[in-house]
Amino acid sequence: MNKQRELVKKDNMAEWYQNVIEKADLAEHSPVKGCMTIKPYGYAIWELIRNELDILIKKHGAKNMSFPLFIPYSYLSREKDHVEGFSPEIAVVTHAGGKKLQEPLVVRPTSETIIHESMRRWIYSYKDLPLKLNQWCNVVRWEKHPRLFLRTSEFQWQEGHTAHATEQEARQEVESMVELYYNFIKDVLAIPTVKGQKSEKEKFAGAVDSYSVEALMPDNKAVQMGTIHYLGLNFSKIADVKFVDESGAENFVYMTSWGVSTRLIGALIMTHGDDKGLVLPPKVAPVQIVIVPIGNTLETAQRLFNELNNSGFRVELDDRQDVRPGAKYFENEMRGIPVRIEIGEREIENNEIQCVNRVTGKRTVLSLGSDYIQSIKDLLQEIQSTLLKNATERMRNSVVEAKTKEEFSDLIENQKGFIKACWCDEKECEVSIKDKTGANSRNLPFAENEKELTDCTCVWCGKKAKKIAYFCKAY
Ligand SMILES: [Zn+2]
Repeated sequence: MNKQRELVKKDNMAEWYQNVIEKADLAEHSPVKGCMTIKPYGYAIWELIRNELDILIKKHGAKNMSFPLFIPYSYLSREKDHVEGFSPEIAVVTHAGGKKLQEPLVVRPTSETIIHESMRRWIYSYKDLPLKLNQWCNVVRWEKHPRLFLRTSEFQWQEGHTAHATEQEARQEVESMVELYYNFIKDVLAIPTVKGQKSEKEKFAGAVDSYSVEALMPDNKAVQMGTIHYLGLNFSKIADVKFVDESGAENFVYMTSWGVSTRLIGALIMTHGDDKGLVLPPKVAPVQIVIVPIGNTLETAQRLFNELNNSGFRVELDDRQDVRPGAKYFENEMRGIPVRIEIGEREIENNEIQCVNRVTGKRTVLSLGSDYIQSIKDLLQEIQSTLLKNATERMRNSVVEAKTKEEFSDLIENQKGFIKACWCDEKECEVSIKDKTGANSRNLPFAENEKELTDCTCVWCGKKAKKIAYFCKAY
């Protein structure tokens, strides 16, 4: 496709999204349907996300491991709900080494079953608990309607798996991972989310309870940003994972699992991008600052590059001779680089630089004589905060309450945001909602469910309501 062609406006989200991914050189569809090739610039964003989150996961007490890509089919089928939930999406290897395999192998859709098999052998006594493992890897869940980053048959993610002596400890683990994801997504990706419990229908196949952090995109469709599952004893009973407690008695361990994936990048693109292209929060921008020399200023630009580089910024010098400054601005804006520094001959005379803020377009003149490094640091911080502030305001204004079934249908049909409603939390009711409106419950927000509900009937079926839920169509 023509690189010069204008970007589609963001109002047309679906086309704009494809367009930005292509023009900012993030990823492309691979020859295998539903799978994606992440290009260097897109992968650099993933690496930054991964590095930042990995630090937090280790601080949280989990250790990284690597488990195999293949899982014996029989492992997956041990847990009835688990295999039923994943069957439509799994890829199975039946032949290897030129022969039909005795037992087919599943390409992991998630690794609970194989990790629990190891835990059974690694856990002996209460002294081995809690056991917290994490792995960064790829998984496969066959996708009928692929969309780059948001839904692909193969994707990158991290999956945490933990074992605990008591239910209370496992529940605490879940709570603290919800907080960890919520804060990470807010502080690093500048995206606000809603924390809450998943409904019966939407919970993880095999879990006792599932929780999620959900973000709302500018077109008012939701993205599930991360999930955290309380598995109780469901999986430990099946895999026979026990420990000897202090009194010498044998007990099953309580388990959890949690993960986030490359779909975070999809949400990042939609949340912050604009009509000029990608906009990246400085914390995950592979290039935080681009320097564009204008006229005969390359020497100064090079010196500035070295200074910024040595100060720890991710900086790029756009010294291409055959591209005009205007075209460089256009391209670097498309790539979402937070700060552009322009140096012309007049700036050199005055010993100053011009900084352009990617989000607001505002120019700041900085004197090279002053502590300009600190000023640039402040500017990046300001951009990070502005992005979070804008996204938070937008989400806050997009939570709308539905009191009647008609209102509910209408709000969903017109994609007004997170539709807040009293709800019975029953599977059949949610199936009917999904059938008629195309939406499902995103989660039962903690903040909305702090108090018991009284005098509230289900917005859809009219039964007594048990919870307040947010409904929305989702990516
Ligand atoms: Zn209902």
